[in-house]
Amino acid sequence: MSDRDAMFAAAEQLGSALARQPLGLIIDGKSVPALSGKSFATVNPATGLELAQVAEGGVADVDAAVQAARKALGNPAWRDMSAVDRSKLLNRLADLIERDADELALLECMDNGKPATLTKAVEIEGSIKTFRYFAGWPTKFGGETLPVSPRSGAKILNYTVREPVGVCALIVPWNYPMSMAAWKVAPALAAGCTVILKPAEQTPLTALRLAELALEAGVPPGVFNVITGFGEAGAALVDHPGVDKVAFTGSTEVGKAIVRGSTGNLKKVSLELGGKSPQIVLPDADLDAAAASIAAGIFFNQGQTCTAGSRLYAHASIHDDLIARIADHAARLTIGNGLDPTVNFGPLVSQEQWDRVSSYVEIGKAEGAEVLIGGGRPKALGEGFFFEPTIMANAGRDMRIVREEIFGPVLSALSWNDPEDLVAQANDSDFGLSAGIWTNDLRQAHRLAGAVKAGTVWINCFNLVDNATPFGGFKQSGWGREHGRQAMELYSEIKSIWVNLS
Ligand code: NAP
Ligand code: MG
Repeated sequence: MSDRDAMFAAAEQLGSALARQPLGLIIDGKSVPALSGKSFATVNPATGLELAQVAEGGVADVDAAVQAARKALGNPAWRDMSAVDRSKLLNRLADLIERDADELALLECMDNGKPATLTKAVEIEGSIKTFRYFAGWPTKFGGETLPVSPRSGAKILNYTVREPVGVCALIVPWNYPMSMAAWKVAPALAAGCTVILKPAEQTPLTALRLAELALEAGVPPGVFNVITGFGEAGAALVDHPGVDKVAFTGSTEVGKAIVRGSTGNLKKVSLELGGKSPQIVLPDADLDAAAASIAAGIFFNQGQTCTAGSRLYAHASIHDDLIARIADHAARLTIGNGLDPTVNFGPLVSQEQWDRVSSYVEIGKAEGAEVLIGGGRPKALGEGFFFEPTIMANAGRDMRIVREEIFGPVLSALSWNDPEDLVAQANDSDFGLSAGIWTNDLRQAHRLAGAVKAGTVWINCFNLVDNATPFGGFKQSGWGREHGRQAMELYSEIKSIWVNLS
């Protein structure tokens, strides 16, 4: 059997297992139906057909999950677990993800549409690394002793300790379901919190598998709960007085609703929101390298990436040459059902997303931009939500396709001449998630890296992410940073303790 046939056969087998019964919520270590008895369909974007029925969690289910998570927070088996044992547990979970990597990649491919081979190499491997990275923190994350100077001259010992922030609601989007869950679950568990994970309605399946694997790894019941469902379930978590922290990745609009909704008990809130990242190309850049990376930066994951480099600022002298090269890369993508190992460009996640991307192409045309390549449904691909890699040339700084996040495979190309105005244009955005800079001139590269308002700047590379370095946004791209020590800080409170020794 060819690799392709084997993938389709495995998918058929997994599909019929999924179709057998509605998948439950995970509350207090058990898979349970929603209290309302309701379920909803998750769809395979490559076929447009129902993949599975999933429990539709509501307010009462959220309450049950919060009770379970609060109880688990005080369970000595979790609360008093030694740092070494916590570390072992996270490594065991990483081992189990590794064991089931093929199945997880297949599941994500069928639920989200993303190509299975790339999903395994990027997202599943990345999630394994994330759990291993944060497995290293429990044994290293502690407080300090501090040289305080009390007025009385008393002899005082002051020290700080780190405590888990408590029950965390982790609300994630559909574009990188497994990675976004791992980026939150791993540091939260490493810090000793308990969690309720709310996956996006379009992609609930890997979140449920991740929680099952965590239970298999030995996470006590109630430490890792999953509520599948709609935005109302997310809003109920944000509103619940028993939740201490919300960590959210998703749209800026929902991020703002979360900030407003969390004021009841002033939950700690961290946000990873949208982006409209500039790719800045200077005349001396290595155009081969830039074109390949700019194409990948906007077309990988069908452009459904928060850091997608969606605004191209190419110097006028190389603009036409560069976009022709980017178009060449786009033409070489293999579009199709992501179960096929040769496919590296799948469908968009949903019809709704397809309509959104398509409407932006129309908006761009009406604004005066020109569709250089793509702009619609590729021929002969059946019922899936496929959208061509698209380049909109002659884009202008005030166009909506330059200002708003499209969240699809659409590059808006602009040219520039005046270096001072370039920085102003790159920063003329509500967003500030990331930026790419392409030049061999060291001084220009560093000057621009300093001038661009973005949480991550890539020089002669793009979309590199690592658990060791902070990730997050300036401006309306978010609050806080994931990865690194910063992520451990997001999931802990610091306590200062004074001891009178006189
Ligand atoms: P979204 O609509 O904001 O949804 C994200 C999550 O929030 C989903 O689980 C959603 O549930 C839930 N939700 C919806 N309304 C809610 C409410 N009122 N209160 C609490 N939770 C609520 O985003 P999306 O469409 O899934 O993802 C696309 C967006 O995410 C893009 O704008 C993208 O840039 C952004 N994103 C940012 C990053 C980053 O790291 N900065 C990463 C990935 C994506 P339902 O699915 O059930 O509606
Ligand atoms: Mg789906």
